[in-house]
Amino acid sequence: MSNQNLGLETQAIRTQLERTQYLEHSVPLYLTSSFIFEDAEDMRASFAEEKERNIYSRFSNPNTSEFVEKICLMEGAEDGYSFATGMAAVYSTFAALLNSGDHIVSASSVFGSTHTLFTKYFPKWNITTSYFDVNKPETIENFIRPNTKILYAESPTNPAVDILDLELLGKIAKKHNLILIIDNCFATPYIQNPIQFGADLVIHSATKLIDGQGRVLGGVTVGRSDLIREIYLFSRNTGPALSPFNAWVLSKSLETLPVRIEKHCENALKVAEFLENHPNVASVKYPFLKSHPQYEVAKKQMKLGGNIVAFEIKGGIESGRKFLDKIKLCSLSANLGDTRSIVTHPASTTHSKLTEEERLAVSITDGLVRVSVGLETVQDVINDLKQALE
Ligand SMILES: *Cc1c(COP(=O)(O)O)cnc(C)c1O
Repeated sequence: MSNQNLGLETQAIRTQLERTQYLEHSVPLYLTSSFIFEDAEDMRASFAEEKERNIYSRFSNPNTSEFVEKICLMEGAEDGYSFATGMAAVYSTFAALLNSGDHIVSASSVFGSTHTLFTKYFPKWNITTSYFDVNKPETIENFIRPNTKILYAESPTNPAVDILDLELLGKIAKKHNLILIIDNCFATPYIQNPIQFGADLVIHSATKLIDGQGRVLGGVTVGRSDLIREIYLFSRNTGPALSPFNAWVLSKSLETLPVRIEKHCENALKVAEFLENHPNVASVKYPFLKSHPQYEVAKKQMKLGGNIVAFEIKGGIESGRKFLDKIKLCSLSANLGDTRSIVTHPASTTHSKLTEEERLAVSITDGLVRVSVGLETVQDVINDLKQALE
């Protein structure tokens, strides 16, 4: 059952595509690699795609189909395909749509592996990328060439929590006939729906807030059905498919996504407000703080501010390292969007190999700390940050 007129929470909970003869209430796990045919005619018609049915779990499976259907309903998308990881979604989406000689215009701060894909691997197939400064979206059109095919961005960005105006990106993409792809991982389908602002495709790493409990990896791309058709055909032949087990976990996770996100954001806003008043903190970036440079844009396109808070600790790299060493409750981990709060200091860890100049180009200052606010009692998280800031 799926109904476009139902509320988002209802869609996340009540979307059920299959039910077996046992009339189970909760959707079972279809741990099967293939599906059988009634007879020769059924098999012929299935392969000819005259009927919509499962053939082989690299193509589709009841669990992956249900997960994709829920994301489509929540994002307002026509169709989608799910992947083993967020990076499989990013890679397969670009690889399916681009040809040798094509050009991408991307925001400068994108997820690290996405950046590596653009700079190290795509040039092998003569696919090139130009980057615009996320804080200067008015310069985007300067980078568009006759062979530009895709406009790509994330909002909010990682780790600096900058906000890009999705409506503006939608207008630019339309004017220049580009495919607009938005990685909506930090916002989730509950907070922000880029298709509403003109995005053609939306990508999620389901590993983060969609799973929300640090258990499984997954990814999904949803959007225009003609583009999804290309991505589906590429993927069914190259094999980045999401496993039925992970799809089952992720589909269950979506049932609680709205309530989890409400609490994540409530906690994050409290953490941001605490940090804003701390004497050892130079500045705080959280989309729903009035001090955020793109506060108005965030309010226009986001329902809530998200769970990531970035702040600048006074004293640069050394203070950042000392701060991490004093953290007791929060985890030091590369993940984000977990029930457990996580603290990272990009300049001394994930981005330590870059020069200071290169770091600044992607908005990573020496004292930048990123907090992925979890679902613990928020005062305990604040107390931990407080003692580490002393
Ligand atoms: C984590 C992440 C990815 C990659 O997802 P994986 O599931 O780890 O492959 C892509 N984009 C963003 C914004 C992410 O945070």
